[in-house]
Amino acid sequence: MLKVNNLAVSYGAIKAIHGVSLEVHDGEVVSLIGANGAGKTTILRTISGLKKADDGEILFNGTDLRKMEPSKIITLKLAHVPEGRHIFPQMTVEENLEMGAFTDKKDLEENMEEVFERFSRLKERRRQLAGTLSGGEQQMLAVGRALMAKPSMILMDEPSMGLSPLLVKEIFSIIKEVNRKGITVLLVEQNAKMALSISSRAYVMETGKITISGDAGELLRDDRVRKAYLGQ
Ligand code: ATP
Repeated sequence: MLKVNNLAVSYGAIKAIHGVSLEVHDGEVVSLIGANGAGKTTILRTISGLKKADDGEILFNGTDLRKMEPSKIITLKLAHVPEGRHIFPQMTVEENLEMGAFTDKKDLEENMEEVFERFSRLKERRRQLAGTLSGGEQQMLAVGRALMAKPSMILMDEPSMGLSPLLVKEIFSIIKEVNRKGITVLLVEQNAKMALSISSRAYVMETGKITISGDAGELLRDDRVRKAYLGQ
């Protein structure tokens, strides 16, 4: 479904990503883990067109995304839930969801009802300003907004950031459920243990490169991963 070949990305003279290749197959949850600054966010931003690559190929269902604008990429049903959520704080929950639905206005109400079915807490707060939601609710809103575009794949950046352990559990069970409904997920996470527990495969990044990859269960048992990322 998604195939990244030999990707290189830089910020000015600084090379943030060197020769990264990865694949996500239809129906999978794949995680990308690694320390702060390894380049995980940069990879997601490059896939969704927010950052331009220097080199390499990004194929989504065979279409090369590299020269495409983000607004075009979302119409291919590839959605991005950015780090730090980026909801619109001065808009209500409903208005935020509407912003996610720009691809298909006519189905807006139906899609919104589906999101509210999944996130009843958002439904109760549909007219509340998004900036006044709790951290967990804002994260749910960010996921809900991505779902409004009816994506076939979601890129999710650090969904557990800043959440209490209980909400972390909740957000991971939401990701699992979204995946069960048929949406493929590429997940960037600091919380390697939780990420691996819901993934089929994973890639470990260090300073702009992929250093380890494999089956998520195998990585949970891998000594290098345990020491560096699982605190064991
Ligand atoms: P974290 O887990 O801390 O979010 P990350 O793995 O997502 O880290 P990135 O945010 O992709 O890492 O950053 C990769 C490298 O690129 C870092 O060295 C970072 O300082 C650098 N970088 C990221 N964004 C910019 C920017 N806008 N301008 C310059 N350098 C940047």
